[in-house]
This record gives sequence, structure tokens and C-alpha cells, in this order.
Amino acid sequence: MAKKNKDFVEKITAMEDDFAQWYTDVVKQAELVEYGQVRGTMIIKPYGYAIWENIKGELDRMIKETGHSNVQFPLFIPESLLQKEADHVEGFAPEVAWVTHGGDEELQERIAVRPTSEVLFCEYYSKNIHSYRDLPKLYNQWGNVVRWEKTTRPFLRSSEFHWQEGHTAHATDEDAAQETDRMLGVYADLVENYLAVPVYRGRKTDKEKFAGAKYTLTIEALMHDGKALQSGTSHHFGSGFAEAFDITYLDKNGKSQFVHQTSWGLSTRIMGALIMVHGDNRGLVVPPRIAPTQAMIVPIAQHKEGVLDKAYELRDQLKSLIRVDIDASDKMPGWKFNEYEMKGIPVRIEMGPKDIEKNQVVLARRDTGEKEFVALSELQDRLPALLEEIQQNLYNKALTHRNEMTSSATNMDEFKQVLEDKGGFIKAMWCGDVACEEKIKEDTTATSRCIPFEQEKIADTCVCCGKEAKELVYWAKAY
Ligand SMILES: [Zn+2]
Repeated sequence: MAKKNKDFVEKITAMEDDFAQWYTDVVKQAELVEYGQVRGTMIIKPYGYAIWENIKGELDRMIKETGHSNVQFPLFIPESLLQKEADHVEGFAPEVAWVTHGGDEELQERIAVRPTSEVLFCEYYSKNIHSYRDLPKLYNQWGNVVRWEKTTRPFLRSSEFHWQEGHTAHATDEDAAQETDRMLGVYADLVENYLAVPVYRGRKTDKEKFAGAKYTLTIEALMHDGKALQSGTSHHFGSGFAEAFDITYLDKNGKSQFVHQTSWGLSTRIMGALIMVHGDNRGLVVPPRIAPTQAMIVPIAQHKEGVLDKAYELRDQLKSLIRVDIDASDKMPGWKFNEYEMKGIPVRIEMGPKDIEKNQVVLARRDTGEKEFVALSELQDRLPALLEEIQQNLYNKALTHRNEMTSSATNMDEFKQVLEDKGGFIKAMWCGDVACEEKIKEDTTATSRCIPFEQEKIADTCVCCGKEAKELVYWAKAY
């Protein structure tokens, strides 16, 4: 059996040897996705989709609890509509896929496959908002968007991806600002408390903000290889789109005012964070709160009389308590152990003739590999507690790693040294000049990830030009 185990694990490249290959191997071996027929598209397979559905389910609940309604807008945008807001069209134009024909007939106006839906919502709001009584409008939609990417990787960057996009309209700039904060908070809650991934919260620099936004808020996570991943963004539009699309309302004094808007999105890209934060050389590790199967029962010597009956009985007892499944196939237990470790199922429950005799089972944790014997009479208390411990442990491990991989630099030599030695986030002061931001990117390939809400003053001068510093920025190489 030892030999078999070894061969199985060798299907995954060690992350220390080649992290990119490790990622590709895990995505494939854990049966999350396959490539689609058009370059850069992906087929999300049942197990990958089951994880995503749990993430989506929690986020959808939070979006509704904060007062939003789901809607569904069209996939298509007329070219003239996409061009209404100048910064927006400039930002997205290089990635737009165009429909030029309907059947054999050439269209009079090209139609964009939505890369994002701001302009569709704006057009709708301009027709449907008249009075202060119509505000706020708090809409969200789940859907697919298309961005014609040059280089693609499953979940991280794909030509078509699934996401939610919230689009809201408010009476005042301050209301829109509160909404922008609120939804960033929802994303941080989801990612930290369900995906067990710690994030830095902050504002994007003007260079990195959303095309057409007044400002963009972001949550940034650190992957195992020391690169950052933008994990969710929330944009304040001010009245820029409202002016371009003439979205006005009559206030209480009968005076015409522009609305103030936001948008916010989180996509299947977050699956990449899940894989790259918690995964290890045995495969995926899924946090219990979003795991489609939280515990897998593997009967041992299941051909012996009574073992399978007892295993099914156990499954039935537990299924109202946790998401539990059983593998009663005729595959060897060793194969099953490897398979469910690969899939990152948080707990394995082993049960054989000797365990049945003693009225106990063996619980094996995916995160630490530790095993414990638990009496059947205690299992209904122990299992939920163990799942909670695993959830916390995954978060704490990721937090420790993120903190260890967050360094400071006060000049470019230090900055480059940190990147070379270990990567991760670099805290450094910035003068606010885009020229320094561009120079840092050109010299190091690291980008500004966010201007954190929790500011510190670690130096008086800009890390790049040495002039007076304005604020602290987190920098990192990023996906
Ligand atoms: Zn500078």
C-alpha cells in the first residue's frame, strides 16, 4: 500500500519545485475544471462547481441581507452604449469580444458581449429613476462576462468567467460611499470567515482603480508562493456615470440632481485563492464551511459482515448534523484515502470491524493529518467541534504565513532585496506620484496592491524618489 500511495501523490508536482505546475496539477487531479473549446474558457466540473455554489450561496445570502435584490440583465451591449463613458470604454475596449453577424446578416451596429454591465444598468437607471423616492436602487446580478485575455489560467484569468456584479444608485455621494464600504466589508467577511483567507483592506491607487470610478476599494490576499491576489473590489463612481448617462432625480425641493453610484464584484477567481492559500503537496484543502462534503466515511474491510450496514447507519445518523458522504465502492481503502485527501475533504471517518467491536471510529484531519479515536456516543458532539477547529486552524495558518510574508522597505535596494529573498507584501511609503508607481512596476514587476485603511508611517520619504511621502502602500507581485 505504501508504494501505491507514493505513486498516487507523484501525480502532483511539489509546490516547492514548480508552483505553477502544482496549481495546474491540483486543478486537474481534484477534478475542478477542464479547458473549454475556445482558448481561455473553462468547464467547471461537478466538484469545482459544488465548492463554488457554497461560496456563492453564502455571498448571495449576505447580499440579500444587506438589502439588495437580484436581477438579470442582457448579455449584449450595443457599441454606442459602451462608448458613452470615456474612461470606462478606454479601460475595457482591448478585451471586448464583438458580435458582428446575426446569422448571415452583418449587423448595422456591432454588439459587445458584456465585459461588465455598468452601462446597461446606467441606461436602465436613467429611465427608471425619477424622484428621491426611487432611491436607493440596490441591484445585484449573477452571470457570466467575457474579457478576451491574452494569457489565461483556470479560475485566475479566463476569457469568460462567472461572477456577481452589484450596481447601486444613491441620492448622495455619502450614501454611495457607505455602500462601497459596506460591500467591501461583506467580501472581507466571506473571504476571511468562510474561505479562511485573511485579507488586507484598502483603496486602490488611481492607476489601479476601476475604469470610470472615483475610487476603488479592494481586499488583497497572499498566496502560498508569495504573490498577491486581488480577491474582491468595490467601486465608488461618484456622479461620473450619472452625468454621462443623464441619471437624475428630483430631490425633496423639486431640484434635479445627479445620482451617485457604486458597483462591486467577486468572481470564480476566488477559487484560485482557495487553492493557492490552503493547498499542499497532497492536493486541495477545503475549509469546512464551504466544503461540499465535510466528512467522508471510508469503511475498512467492508466485505466483512455488518461493516457496510454500520457505516450506512452512521451516515444516516450524521447527515442532519454535517455534510457527510460514504464511499462504499470496491476500491481499496488506500485509494480512497488518497482520493479524498486530494479533494481536500476536511475529515475522513474510518470504520472497520475492530472499531465496530469497540463502538468507535477513527477521525483523520486533512489539515494536519492527525488521527483520533472517538466513541460513537461522542461523535455527534466531536465532529462539529472538529470541523470548527479545522476552519480556525486553516485561517490561523494562513494569517501566520501572510504576516511572516509582510515586510517593510524604506528604499529601493531593500525593496528589491525583499522581493528576491521571499516575496510577499512589502510595506513602503509613497509620494503619490504615478511616475514612482510605474517605475517600481517596471524595475521589479511588483504593483501597488492597496493603500491600507490602517495607515502607518514607517518613513518620511517615498521609497522610490526620496521626496516627501504621502501614504503607506502595500506592494507585491500579483496574479
Ligand atoms: Zn515618489
